[in-house]
Amino acid sequence: MSRTAEPTVERVLEAGSRLAAESARFTGLGWMRGTSGNLSEVVSRDPLRLVVTASGLDKGELTAGDVSVVGPVGETVPVEGIEPRRPSAEAGLHARVAALTGAGAVVHVHTLSAVVAGHHWPDGVPLRDIEMLKGIGRLAHDDEVVVPVIANSQDMAELGDRFEASYDRGVPAVIVAHHGLYAWGRDLTHARHVTECVEWLLTYAVAVR
Ligand SMILES: [Zn+2]
Repeated sequence: MSRTAEPTVERVLEAGSRLAAESARFTGLGWMRGTSGNLSEVVSRDPLRLVVTASGLDKGELTAGDVSVVGPVGETVPVEGIEPRRPSAEAGLHARVAALTGAGAVVHVHTLSAVVAGHHWPDGVPLRDIEMLKGIGRLAHDDEVVVPVIANSQDMAELGDRFEASYDRGVPAVIVAHHGLYAWGRDLTHARHVTECVEWLLTYAVAVR
């Protein structure tokens, strides 16, 4: 009988170190005010395991151990040698995003422009003919891009269902109305680049409307 291989302490702490560094960077941009927002990295596909930033901590001051390992519905998975921390309540949506999109990392930030854009375009934020679209893998010209907007919920299963229903595989981001932004990429660095470009595009859309 084969045993389920859970991630090692080393693997979790390596991911935690990267998550702490990226969290500090986003905090510096003002995108993780208070203790808001959370980042995750996939460390195993089968079974699905994510290392996600712990809940309730200042995202500018995380250390490598300020993480939790979670499974497909955001449930905590104990890893020997890792002190259990409470995962973000939003870890369940991170896992849904990773499962559906195949992303290696997911970023969730509470940026003002995402919330304002979601307010103005509740059915999705239309974007076209702007160079920065290349930053999310789209064309600078004649390419119609709509960033989906889904209604907020405190129930991660419900939020996950809304995400799945709205998902466009050509758009690596979703706005949660009156809440914030989720964006993802093949790894954490790529997810940051996508987040930066989407954030710029949403700021632009709001500015020129
Ligand atoms: Zn949030």
